[in-house]
Amino acid sequence: MEKRVRTRIAPSPTGDPHVGTAYIALYNLAFAWKNGGDFILRIEDTDQNRYVEGSEKMIFDALKWLGLDYAEGPDVGGPCGPYRQSERIQIYAEYAKKLVELGGAYYCFCTPDRLERLRERQKAMGKAPGYDGCCRSLTPEQVKAKLDAGEPYVIRLKMPYEGQTIIHDRLRGDIVFENDKIDDQVLLKADGYPTYHLANVVDDHLMGITHVIRAEEWIASTPKHIQLYKAYGWDMPEFIHMPLLRNSDKSKISKRKNPVSLVWYREEGYLKEGIVNFLGLMGYSFGENKEIFFLEDFKENFNIDNVSLGGPVFDLVKLGWVNNQHMRMKDLDELTRLTVPFFREVGYVGENVGETEFATLRKVVAILREGAPTLKALVQNARQFFDDEISLQEASEDMNSKQKKSVEKLRNSILDEIGKASIALFLEKLKNWPRDGFTVEEARDILHATWEEVNTDSAGKVFMPLRAAITGQSIGTDLYNILYVIGRDRAVARMERMIRNYHIL
Ligand code: GLU
Repeated sequence: MEKRVRTRIAPSPTGDPHVGTAYIALYNLAFAWKNGGDFILRIEDTDQNRYVEGSEKMIFDALKWLGLDYAEGPDVGGPCGPYRQSERIQIYAEYAKKLVELGGAYYCFCTPDRLERLRERQKAMGKAPGYDGCCRSLTPEQVKAKLDAGEPYVIRLKMPYEGQTIIHDRLRGDIVFENDKIDDQVLLKADGYPTYHLANVVDDHLMGITHVIRAEEWIASTPKHIQLYKAYGWDMPEFIHMPLLRNSDKSKISKRKNPVSLVWYREEGYLKEGIVNFLGLMGYSFGENKEIFFLEDFKENFNIDNVSLGGPVFDLVKLGWVNNQHMRMKDLDELTRLTVPFFREVGYVGENVGETEFATLRKVVAILREGAPTLKALVQNARQFFDDEISLQEASEDMNSKQKKSVEKLRNSILDEIGKASIALFLEKLKNWPRDGFTVEEARDILHATWEEVNTDSAGKVFMPLRAAITGQSIGTDLYNILYVIGRDRAVARMERMIRNYHIL
């Protein structure tokens, strides 16, 4: 009988949850799903020096946010727990000792001092640093005597001195390593803690992992893992090394060049659908130029053998485009609800958002969602709907000459005779309007009627001063959309304020 497929991610809680973790999780999840198996989460927290408080919780939250649900994990439990390595220390110590008995590992009593001198000698001779195998030849009696005397020790992997270790990578074919180039890796440290290699392999075995799908940066570790499986006599999982996410200069994705924290992406207002879709595009192609999809489509369509190895570039512009497609597709009420915290952050709404206020936000979101890569960007474009304390825009240092010119044109437009007439006429029409609200069409009609009555060929001569009087800004959302959102009374108040402050009439 075929074994049930089980995949996993095994992040270390060393800081903010990384986009790379979500990327690898997505492929593990899709592979398990497609094969009717399980995808699990294990936390590899045995490196005490790199441990960051709170990081584990952020990993759980980020995966849940993205809908990358794991069937087993530290916070959801499961039959192979505990799923947090720091709670399994005893297990690794036992397995390390077992490996010594099996002849795949040995006790090493070399002092840090000796190892340091060894390193220096190797350096001076231009040799690669590595353990020289000194303790490999200790007899069982010598080992026992040292252990009885309480000498500190580590346990090392007994790498074969000859031959090759071959990774049969499903995507990359055979990757061959010469065994004599591989160090006798420490498996159990002097403090009793395991290293990554031991804990990772023991857990993958005990947790029934059948496919190890991880980033290519781990390729160099895999021959050691293969030797461990062999020494224990365990079935080997299949190894699949995914292409690394890259900065635009093709270097490994790094926070100096790209935001890498999922928390950042969430706070920036990327939708979970946008992130998942984008990560899906990173190593995989649907064919037929299909670029926009949901997690469900990805899972359905997924075929691990179609993963492409070309270093995928994590391009924020592309992500913005993908995210925007999902913003457009989202149910408007839901999108508005998701945008509320961003409106709150800039003070456009308070703690509680009532029905009328929500209806206003909904209008704004409907108008602006087409042009914004993120929810935060949407809100940044929304100022003209919310800020009634308007003043005329001024040219600033960071503007180019074209922008400066349009600001100058805006400021002049209210001094112009036609400008003044347009403002006066439009204000009168607003005041005569029987209700506080307009539909978009009504707002458009009033603007057009004003233009007709002012009787000039140039639409700009009418609409520019009106824009100035209602928003103070040279560019922005269509004026009728602003009127539709702010309604009659706020428009009148804004115009009267401008007329007063700039002595327009
Ligand atoms: N703990 C490793 C990490 O931080 C796991 C690598 C692996 O998947 O084996 O990514």
